[in-house]
Amino acid sequence: MSLPLPQFGKPLRVEAPPAQTRGVRPTHLVDSHGRRIRDLRLSLTDRCNFRCTYCMDPDVRFCRRTELLTEAEMLRLARIFAGFGIDRIRLTGGEPTLYPTLPELIAELSELGMRDIAMTTNGSLATDADLAAWHNAGLHRLSVSLDTLRPDRFTALTRATSSPERVIETVRLAKRVGMHPVKINAVVMRGLNDDELVDFARLARELAVEIRFIEFMPLDSGRRWGREAVVSADEMLEQIEAVFPLRDTSRERTCSPAQRFAFADGTPGGIGIIASVTRPFCNACSRIRITADGKLMPCLFSTAEWDLRTIMREGGSDDDLASTIVEATLAKQAGHTIASPQYQQPDRQMSAIGG
Ligand code: SAM
Ligand code: SF4
Repeated sequence: MSLPLPQFGKPLRVEAPPAQTRGVRPTHLVDSHGRRIRDLRLSLTDRCNFRCTYCMDPDVRFCRRTELLTEAEMLRLARIFAGFGIDRIRLTGGEPTLYPTLPELIAELSELGMRDIAMTTNGSLATDADLAAWHNAGLHRLSVSLDTLRPDRFTALTRATSSPERVIETVRLAKRVGMHPVKINAVVMRGLNDDELVDFARLARELAVEIRFIEFMPLDSGRRWGREAVVSADEMLEQIEAVFPLRDTSRERTCSPAQRFAFADGTPGGIGIIASVTRPFCNACSRIRITADGKLMPCLFSTAEWDLRTIMREGGSDDDLASTIVEATLAKQAGHTIASPQYQQPDRQMSAIGG
């Protein structure tokens, strides 16, 4: 299968980098391609109770506890990012719900001025009380990952003992405690779950949630990714539309990497397609990531990392951290090169980056 080359072109909105005057911190982050950084992804842990085949090795070596950022270090970094005008943060991992003091962390992030706090979770551990506590602390948006609705496939894919029903229950509970929006993420892989798209669309209608289909990306630990395993956005849409006609609503919301569709018959819920491989959206990327061990990655596909943890532990100042953040931002690559034969997979697997 031949994949289209990414169309990086011009960013949707080109911004001039803020003037850098010695000793004066810029008020916002703009990369050298004119993209404004607005979203921070913070990985709370590299640990997980699942071992999804496309994400994590069964015998993965986790970081030692001392290698992981402490809560104080995370909050210090979040405060510096807030100073760059970033008030949108997504908590991820590994599995972020394993983080022991999650409600306290969310509350502190809220106090720092993070007005939009979201989290991506496998949805297998959250109780009603957890969800209520996180929501009360300031977590409003939740993405729950679920790649198959079939219990046997679920066990094979996650190498864990939970079930689709348990994960769906988390979606229901999250809605009940008032989180909004609650979405389901499914990575679509040829021959593994690409025959379930219509079932997922039916579930989206039943739960009145958006289900986002994500193209399989070459960030898997086992290096099993191949171009033939990618189910393109076009193929996905064709399957779903044959049963549930859709209305493209992407133009109504422009800041999302997903192409979004409502059900044409007006049933609540919807479909999102995140076509990172066949329809890259790098030119509109506004994200930057901090891994659980304190490395700054300007792109999911970065092969370079900036070590914020060491700066902090060696007594670096906030200005030292801020200038490293600016440096990493300016080095943010134009886009990924998955479609190129020269593509080199980063050493880190997805679970160690924070998807
Ligand atoms: N454990 C949480 C979860 O599963 O939602 C958060 C971390 S997980 C790394 C974040 C997201 O990355 C999940 O939605 C997962 O499906 C996605 N992901 C992991 N490996 C991927 C890959 N190779 N291609 C595309 N998405 C991937
Ligand atoms: Fe864990 Fe999420 Fe990776 Fe699955 S996708 S192994 S749940 S981090």
